[in-house]
Order: sequence, then C-alpha cells, then structure tokens
Amino acid sequence: MQHNDKYILALDQGTTSSRAIVFNQTGVVIGMKQIAFNQIYPKPGWVEHDPFDIWQSQYDAAVGAIDEAQITPSQIAAIGITNQRETTLIWDRKTGKPVHNAIVWQCRRSSHICQELKALGFEPEIKARTGLILDPYFSGTKLVWLFDQIPGLRDRAERGELAFGTVDSWLIYNLTGRHATDATNASRTMLFNIREGRWDQEILRMLKIPEAILPEVLPSSADFGYTRKDLFGCEIPVCGCAGDQQAALFGHACFQVGASKNTYGTGCFALMNTGSEPVESRHNLLTTIAWDLGKGYTYALEGSVFIGGAVIQWLRDEMRLLSDSAESERLARLVKDTGGVVLVPAFVGMGAPYWDAEARGAALGVTRGTTKAHFVRAALESVAYQSRDLLDAMERDAGASIPFIKADGGASANSFLMQFQADVLDKPVILPEVGEVTALGAAYLAGLRVGYWSGLDELERNWRRKRDFMPEMAAETRDRLLERWSKAVEVTRLFK
Ligand code: ADP
Repeated sequence: MQHNDKYILALDQGTTSSRAIVFNQTGVVIGMKQIAFNQIYPKPGWVEHDPFDIWQSQYDAAVGAIDEAQITPSQIAAIGITNQRETTLIWDRKTGKPVHNAIVWQCRRSSHICQELKALGFEPEIKARTGLILDPYFSGTKLVWLFDQIPGLRDRAERGELAFGTVDSWLIYNLTGRHATDATNASRTMLFNIREGRWDQEILRMLKIPEAILPEVLPSSADFGYTRKDLFGCEIPVCGCAGDQQAALFGHACFQVGASKNTYGTGCFALMNTGSEPVESRHNLLTTIAWDLGKGYTYALEGSVFIGGAVIQWLRDEMRLLSDSAESERLARLVKDTGGVVLVPAFVGMGAPYWDAEARGAALGVTRGTTKAHFVRAALESVAYQSRDLLDAMERDAGASIPFIKADGGASANSFLMQFQADVLDKPVILPEVGEVTALGAAYLAGLRVGYWSGLDELERNWRRKRDFMPEMAAETRDRLLERWSKAVEVTRLFK
C-alpha cells in the first residue's frame, strides 16, 4: 500500500545530542533536526545528564524535524524511539520529577559496587542470566549506587512511588504517560533475564532492587501509548523502541543469522545477528537481545572498540597532525603502506576480545624516515585491525562465518578505511545509501506495527547500497600485516 502523505518520525536520543528524523515510505530522510545538550562531569570519571535537558532537546528536535519536513504532526503515522543505552534515571511516578540527574552509561561511579559483587562471586551468574559482564557501564549497579546514596529512596520505591527507566522509558513516560521499555533496552540493565524474558528475581535480590520500580517490558515493535495532545496537537502512536546499536542492526536490514554491522563512530560497535538462540561468548563479547517483533527474541553478539574514529580526533586535536578528520584519507593515500609503523590506540585500555583495562597505547616500528602520512595511515589501519579482531571473535563464538559487513557512522565516510577494512577482513564492506540507519531502524520498528511497512521483505527491498568495498589484498600481504598487528598488541600489553 502507498502512504504518500504519511510519514514516520524517529527520535534518536544520543549521548551528546537529540535528533529527530522524518522518513517516508522508501526510507528517505524528509526532515531532520539535531540539538546538542549539556554534559555534566561532577568528578573525574563521572558523567551525568539533566533529565529535563534530555526531554526538552528531544521534544524540540521532534517539532523541528516535522517543521523542516514541511508536514503537519497529523501526517505522522507513528513514532519510533532509539536511544543511548544503559543511562539510568529514577523519577516520581505522580509528578514526573527525577530524584537525581541521569547517570550516563560512560559513568564509572559504581566501580566499587562491581568489585564487591565480583568478590562475592556473582559474575558468572550475572553473565549467564543477562549476557553481560559485571561492569559499571550497565544500569544495574548505577541503580544500586542511587539506592545507597539517596536517603529514603528504597522505602519510596517499595511503596511504588518511583519509576526507574533507561532513556527510552523516560521519553515514553514524557510522551505518553506510560512506564514501559522494550526488550533490547531491558537487556542492557543487567537486571533482565535474556533467556526467560523477564526481570530476574535472583539478581534483583542480589542487588536489593525493589521490583515495583521497574518498567513493563514490551516488544520493540509494540503499542507504547499515544502522545499527550498538548505536545503535537494530536495523538500520535509510539510504536517502536530499541537501543541505538540494536536499532542500527535493524536499520541495516541485518535480518538473517550471521548478518553483521559495524558502526564507525568515536568507538566502533559491531553486532552480529545470531538468530533465536543466545550465544554465550568465550571471548568477552556481550550477548544481547537484538529485537523482539512479538514472536520471540532475535539475539546478537556485541563487541566494541573503545578508540575508533577517536584516534583521528586525537591526531587532529591533540597531535595537530590534521586540520580536519577527512584529511586523514588524503594523507593515508600519499603512501603505499605505513612504512612499518603499527599504532595500537589502547588509550583507555582494550575492549573485546582482549578486555584489558590497564593497557595503554603504543606506536611501534617508527624510524627516522617515518612521515606524518605513515603515522596517519597507521592510525586508520588500527581502526580496521581492532574491528577485525572483534569480528573474528564473533565468528569463533557463533561458529558461523560472517558473509559481509554493513558499515555506518562518521568514519565510514573514509573510503581508504572502508577498503582497508574489506582487505584485512577478506570480506566485502557495504555502505548503505541512507546513512541514518539507527534512526531508520527505530522508524522501521514503529512503521511495522502500524502497517506502514508490510513486513521484513519490504524493508529488505527498501535497503539500497551506496557502495561496496570488495577485498583486493593478496592473502600473503594480509597474513603478514595481521601477524605484525598481533605482535604489536602483544608488546603493547606487556608495557604497563
Ligand atoms: P559518534 O556518534 O560516536 O559521536 P560519529 O558517527 O559522528 O560519532 O563519528 C565521529 C567520529 O568519526 C569522530 O571520531 C571523527 O574523528 C571520525 N571521522 C569523521 N569523519 C572521518 C573521516 N573522513 N575519516 C576518519 N574519521 C572520521
């Protein structure tokens, strides 16, 4: 069916900005608005957001996107939400007033709580039930911190006066008045049993979290309520919800088992669809819910490279070797290789499969003849090597081969990087025509629910490639480069 005068609005609530995008039925962007908001750093390693900043910037972005699309709110068939994950909020159910700033996923304030839980031997149980490693990154111990720090909070929670939520829940509450989340966001709290599909009683007991505070968990494509009339002048159904990385996997139409995407942003986030069975990782990857279309979960393996595009930011802002990020491509192409230089950007430790928090960066093989171009090329290559390590671990965990990688994110604009990635993976790397795959994924989830799109087949047909990067490197060259990289990682990790 054609929906010529109807559109889907995606709300993409990120860590540094709120974005809203209006899509048409072919998945084309019709209007977009992005609003940055304030980051709060109360202490080193701590990160907070003002919950009202999150809401206000997201609402203003939605109004702005509708305006830019030159449509009226009544032409929005449904709203889909995607969001920064794990960020933790508690608010009063009646007044909507938060009890504290949002504790952002990056915030390390609950490290000591994780250490205590590890010492008590809880980690294997938590991993088996939630698919996650015991880390301050996830919501569970952030919530414990709030209960420990705010007097009377637990009593109020037990009386049912308070609501906990990740950012999706906070937006849904403000949009519709409901207290709900979806399975992908629930799977990042460290409180949700991803096999049984319910809040895990055992973990709630371990962490002393009152169940009354938790949101209802719905599928990712479901009825989350209608927007309050005063917001847009009409009631719009909110019908889609997924965490940002899962939404990107969906927006890339990675519907088949083995289908994988890598997002090249500040860090890199790789997800592989593992189908209806959760795969437990032996290489420090996370097991997570990819989506729930109401017919059982699709699971994914997930891993991240901490320093991806950020290595280019570093060369630009700290080392001052680049005037802008795009210049990295021009420089890398000036030389035929790195002249033997290997850069291991373990600036904040190394993620999967190494998971080495103490490691720090290194540049190896530097000579008197090393130029800026060699160094910049080594930095770009390091993004591809780290991603390869991650994807290799995924294949080994899943016991299946990844046929090709779909790519997005700021650094995917770098064609040198994309080609080098295809070369070291020995797999095609594919760029989609619509780069806004995260928002598109949220739009798809919402549109499916209201019949705007007929099903996954139509979404697959909607997916159009912009460019394929085919592997061209000779096998001997690849093997030699990968061996040098592995050696460099080994040496780097010895230096502590
Ligand atoms: P995030 O959403 O994580 O903030 P983006 O997807 O916007 O990140 O990507 C920004 C990152 O991509 C930055 O770290 C930047 O250095 C990098 N980047 C942007 N353009 C290029 C480019 N042409 N080549 C390499 N890196 C780039």
